[in-house]
Amino acid sequence: MPQVDARHVGHDAYEQILERVRGFHGYAAPGVVLGFFMVEAAKDAMPEGVLYDALVETGWCLPDAVQMLTPCTIGNGWLKVRNFGIYAVSLYDKRTGQGVRVRLDPARLDPYPNIRTWLLKLAPKREQNTPALMEEIRLAGASVCSFAPVQVLPEQLQKRSKGSIALCPLCGDAYPASHGRLCRPCRGESPFDSGYAEPSSGSASSGSAVASGPRLRLVPVEQAVGARLVHDMTRIEPGVSKDAAFVRGQILEPGDVCRLQRMGRHNLYVEGEDGDALSGWVHEDEAACAFAQALAGPGTRPVLPAREGKVNLEAATDGLLVVDRGRLEAFNLVPDVMAATRRDGSLVKKGMRVAGTRAIPLHLRRDLFGKAMRLLDAEAMGGPLVRVTRCIQQRSASWSPAPRFSRALSRTSSSP
Ligand SMILES: [Zn+2]
Repeated sequence: MPQVDARHVGHDAYEQILERVRGFHGYAAPGVVLGFFMVEAAKDAMPEGVLYDALVETGWCLPDAVQMLTPCTIGNGWLKVRNFGIYAVSLYDKRTGQGVRVRLDPARLDPYPNIRTWLLKLAPKREQNTPALMEEIRLAGASVCSFAPVQVLPEQLQKRSKGSIALCPLCGDAYPASHGRLCRPCRGESPFDSGYAEPSSGSASSGSAVASGPRLRLVPVEQAVGARLVHDMTRIEPGVSKDAAFVRGQILEPGDVCRLQRMGRHNLYVEGEDGDALSGWVHEDEAACAFAQALAGPGTRPVLPAREGKVNLEAATDGLLVVDRGRLEAFNLVPDVMAATRRDGSLVKKGMRVAGTRAIPLHLRRDLFGKAMRLLDAEAMGGPLVRVTRCIQQRSASWSPAPRFSRALSRTSSSP
């Protein structure tokens, strides 16, 4: 390995450095080459014999220089990347946290216009003079850096720990239990189209977690005659009723136009021209019905049909409500669906509402629907999520307080 002077190296030694960078990083990126000088300078500044960790403040290039030149890697945990986007590297004593921070100092770049242009992105890459830049880096070495002693915070010195490990009920992957009842990809953070959970699903559409929904057209009500409504519409008469005046699937008749306009509806969503537009989606009513039927264990029954995308469950008998709270939590971690129940262990009477469920958007992505349904599968998951068991003795005085779930389940934003 070439000996690196804090100032600069000769052409031969520099060529060896470039060769090493190419071998590790794929090409002689200016940032890694500069990082090479920075890390060597930081190592020189550390006392002999100290076991050190490294902290890099950018995800670009610099971590590779640390991994090339020190025993610290991301995999062994001795290199930490805090991505502040700042070109700085620190080495510090593993035990005490005392160390040195080396940063590329813009105030020291006056003699090196090409390094300045590169660092501050003053010109597009193709207009930058790469040979001149690389030569400036050779000449500058670590002289363009500032050095400062640092003391790393005690909590940063603690050994990382995964904690206990759980198996995700949806995908079966082992993941840190501290992340909650579902692994993070299954909660919608998957970088892959449709996540891992449904590899064979071809229909799940264009898939990011925030896909906008199937193709619907917003048209003035006069033009919607003959079209099929894609959702219920409620007429609210203050103090009188709140009722679905129009239901999903209903074909709009000429006489309906006035009624809609009186309800304040001047535009409507109707299905797009493409008959297949909805294939990757499940309508909220269908989803809610399916959820409710799967949710309902012995002693409960869904109150069908769905009303505005929501289905409640009622007790079919007097008894004790038993809720699998862990699975309820997992269900609510699936994006765009929700369920709420009266408190586990509540005493309930026949006919009392014990739970409710809904899809949050008007159309739910089919892959999310599939995930949610799998969590409700009583056979696969070892029992129903909600059930009511008969009590041997009923104490009428101990009904649990009024639940909050009906508020939690009401739609927060108005439907189109
Ligand atoms: Zn998972």
